[in-house]
Amino acid sequence: TESREGRGFGHGLEAYVLLDLVHLGKKKIVNDLPQIRHVGKLFENIDLVEKPMIIRPTAHYSMGGIDVDKFDDMSTTLPGLFTAGEASCVSIHGANRLGGNSLADAVVTGKIAGDGAAAYAGTTEYSAGKRLVDLAGQWKSRFVGVTKGGDARQMYAIREEMGAQLWDNMGIFRTQAKLAALAGTLDDLQSRYDALRIPNANPVYNSVFTEYVELGNMLQLARAACLAATARRESRGAHTREDFPKRDDANFLKHSMVTMDEGGRLHMGWKAVEIANFKPEERKY
Ligand SMILES: Cc1cc2nc3c(=O)[nH]c(=O)nc-3n(C[C@H](O)[C@H](O)[C@H](O)COP(=O)(O)OP(=O)(O)OC[C@H]3O[C@@H](n4cnc5c(N)ncnc54)[C@H](O)[C@@H]3O)c2cc1C
Repeated sequence: TESREGRGFGHGLEAYVLLDLVHLGKKKIVNDLPQIRHVGKLFENIDLVEKPMIIRPTAHYSMGGIDVDKFDDMSTTLPGLFTAGEASCVSIHGANRLGGNSLADAVVTGKIAGDGAAAYAGTTEYSAGKRLVDLAGQWKSRFVGVTKGGDARQMYAIREEMGAQLWDNMGIFRTQAKLAALAGTLDDLQSRYDALRIPNANPVYNSVFTEYVELGNMLQLARAACLAATARRESRGAHTREDFPKRDDANFLKHSMVTMDEGGRLHMGWKAVEIANFKPEERKY
């Protein structure tokens, strides 16, 4: 808000404000805020006793993920696919994962998923299956197709534009107009991505191809998040809609579910929230 209203420094992705603790005095900073002072020294080589430090928002977690079908083994609706940690949606964090909770999530769900996957492997005859062989074939031809010469800079340009557009339109504050504009931009970026060619055809340790695949995954995820953010016409957790600032349990106490069909089209759906011991309440500070 400080940046948006012109009281910050820099623009766009480079916008920042300054955290100034100097007025608290050395004694208070040393005694009460030693960790913050340490972070300032470690990352910026700044002593917060003497100088302010640059602060800007960052994404530190993806809320949501691959939907867990059974919590006792972290299996999904795709047979043989298990999920855990940040990639999964175990629904233990609600709409805003609190600081410190994700490492506990990763350790607990990782153990359950590991046990589940091992048990499944022990009872399943491994066979690549026609679908997997077909998929491998498709990826092989895709590799040959996209590595027929090209300019990797175009790939980085798509990635950079995607980041800037996501930040501007879906970063912290969201509105219908911003999300609609973003959906259009993401479709354009997807078309540019689909037409992209990259220069490196080396089948071994080809990091350009890895980045190409990752960019495709990020675009897919961005489109899914944009679809869900557009449909959720309320504010909840980290999802802040300026046009719908209130939480709306009557209409949106449900999970957003985005699925993709064989043609790559995304579809919006919902899943009921199972409420057990704790009734959802508005969080008040
Ligand atoms: C700045 C920041 C601060 C954070 N602070 C905290 C904190 O204080 N406390 C807390 O609890 N959490 C914190 N988190 C969140 C926490 O770090 C992550 O949620 C957690 O590390 C996720 O663990 P993970 O094992 O699920 O996923 P990751 O650590 O992301 O591991 C996924 C791994 O899979 C690999 N991979 C990806 N694709 C493929 C592929 N196709 N084939 C093979 N490998 C692949 C990746 O290279 C990666 O090594 C923070 C996150 C950030 C970014």
